[in-house]
Amino acid sequence: MYQLINGFEFAKEERRKLKEEIDKMEKKPVLAVILVGENPASQIYVRNKEKACEEVGIKSRVYRIKECLQVELLAIIDQLNKDEDVDGILVQLPLPEGMEEQTVIQAIDPNKDVDGFHPVNLGKLMLGLEGPVACTPKGCLKLIKSVKENLTGLNALVIGRSNIVGKPMAQLLLKENCTVTIAHSKTVNLPELCKQADIVVAAVGKPKFVQKEWVKDGAIVIDVGINRLEDGKLCGDVDFENVAEKCFAITPVPKGVGPMTIAMLLENTLYLHKK
Ligand code: NDP
Repeated sequence: MYQLINGFEFAKEERRKLKEEIDKMEKKPVLAVILVGENPASQIYVRNKEKACEEVGIKSRVYRIKECLQVELLAIIDQLNKDEDVDGILVQLPLPEGMEEQTVIQAIDPNKDVDGFHPVNLGKLMLGLEGPVACTPKGCLKLIKSVKENLTGLNALVIGRSNIVGKPMAQLLLKENCTVTIAHSKTVNLPELCKQADIVVAAVGKPKFVQKEWVKDGAIVIDVGINRLEDGKLCGDVDFENVAEKCFAITPVPKGVGPMTIAMLLENTLYLHKK
């Protein structure tokens, strides 16, 4: 019987610990969140982040901007960089068309880069230096380690090579002494690679992509994907119903990786505040 990795409960416990620590602080951490445009999913994400901050005692300042020029956005970021009260800055992605994601990310002071997306912080991760680590991969690693503490020598397969999930995830697993393979859309014979993996992290964005036949018996499977099906239900990148029985442990969607991402955002805000 497989273990269901309950990210929802795990994240709840993480938030409880964070609140306990923040309650003792005289000066509370402050997170600035900037949302440009009217993307409905982004609006929900930002609202959830705001609520989560409130719950643990982090002060959030949310800037909801319907429309603006990139230079105006950069000016707001510049102001927040200089504001000593602000510990963390988050610009909700994706940005509206016409804005350059990298220019905006790189405008954020690396010491306030709560998402860990700035090249300086991604570079630190690569060098094994301390710094804010991207929330989703950080949360995934915690979930993996909740069922297996020592990952040394394990074969890990990360499916997806995005800058925000796949690449930092691979670095974190490498740091844990895993032998890491990164797969992407041009990968040849993915099922064969998957069969050799003790740990699979799927961050593809395709519903039920990872099949039962691909998965090694006793694997740990982490499903990052959030896909909306035609009936409105959420579904991951893993064919959970069929894959689960082969696993040592697996995350569900929803209530798997998603809640951990937000918990790690709170943890990163506290980390930057303490720094
Ligand atoms: P991206 O679209 O940026 O990256 C998807 C990756 O999947 C790419 O590297 C792409 O390869 C790869 N890919 C696409 N098709 C295949 C294929 N047939 N075989 C192997 N690899 C393939 O997505 P993100 O990394 O941003 O997100 C991935 C998923 O995770 C999405 O569903 C997203 O909604 C979800 N997500 C969930 C979060 C959470 O908190 N739970 C947070 C962030 C994302 P290539 O590079 O070659 O194009």
